[in-house]
Amino acid sequence: MKVVVVVGGVGGARFLLGVKAALGLPAVGEAPAGSPHEITAVVNTGDDVWLHGLRVCPDLDTCMYTLGGGIDTERGWGHAGETWTVKEELAAYGAEPTWFALGDKDIATHLIRSRMLRTGYPLSAVTEALCDRWRPGVRLLPMTDDRVETHVVVDDPDEPGQRKALHFQEWWVRYRARLPAHAIVPVAAEESTPGPGVLPAIAEADAVLFAPSNPVVSVGTVLSVPGIREALRKTEAGIVGISPIIGGRPLRGMADACLAAIGVETSAEAVGRHFGSRQTSEDGLLDGWLVQSGESADVPGVAVRAVPLLMSDVDASAKMARAALDLAGVNVD
Ligand code: GDP
Ligand code: CA
Repeated sequence: MKVVVVVGGVGGARFLLGVKAALGLPAVGEAPAGSPHEITAVVNTGDDVWLHGLRVCPDLDTCMYTLGGGIDTERGWGHAGETWTVKEELAAYGAEPTWFALGDKDIATHLIRSRMLRTGYPLSAVTEALCDRWRPGVRLLPMTDDRVETHVVVDDPDEPGQRKALHFQEWWVRYRARLPAHAIVPVAAEESTPGPGVLPAIAEADAVLFAPSNPVVSVGTVLSVPGIREALRKTEAGIVGISPIIGGRPLRGMADACLAAIGVETSAEAVGRHFGSRQTSEDGLLDGWLVQSGESADVPGVAVRAVPLLMSDVDASAKMARAALDLAGVNVD
């Protein structure tokens, strides 16, 4: 079975643990040799940022550490047992930015990545090399090898009456998404091309799932890479999305602020309609849409099913993944 999952960071990584478990694979770590299943994650890279001369790829790293067993499970991001000596030293120098925390262990990842990028390796090859250590058991493909960075247009907090574009990370981490966003733009997405392996994986998939990741700055950013939407429209695989919105709210994080910026209501129904139907609309993508048990959603042209959507542990995520695969028309038993 070939499954492609479109993901961001924490929500995507936890869902991937469930997809692995649903296919009978160990949630953490490598698949046993000879496994007939292949899971490919197409990962958002719009959050990526240069900090202190280091290339930081938050969503790729969250997936890699989570699936490889190195994540701080409580925080959901960064290494377990992390220390912060370098951060404190940088702060003592007054080195900007101070609002983004890089842990000591994490910095090793960014040092290797930055060194490889500077010697000319594409991000996809760098990611593969890093995964040699972490053995995530899922093929982690950056959505693109090109530099695409999400920026957010806000009222300039320092210059009344002026607008300014912030890197997504500054808006999200420094301002906790509290500055109302006029627009969210994946800068340079139009000129980007899908990363190696992305289009073939979609074309050859038995099922494509949209993780319950942020619909705007995770899944939406992946979809902004020219060619990916077209490949999804064409694939014979069923496409099923999982709502990150339960009871009219995002589970963790500030996805509501992102939805407001693109004029989409924070509800499972509105997000389902935003992705749209592959059958009955010209650029829609979904065949199926999972919403939380007890909720309903009317998404024309899309099969909607209600199942428990709280990823409280791997078993719960695995049940969600099974329901999604089932709705996509594949049998995992
Ligand atoms: P990020 O890149 O780390 O922000 O993570 P993602 O974009 O992959 O996922 C963030 C989204 O995951 C948020 O919009 C949450 O609503 C959603 N989310 C987090 N935990 C859960 C959960 O247990 N169930 C569901 N359905 N969604 C969740
Ligand atoms: Ca992210």
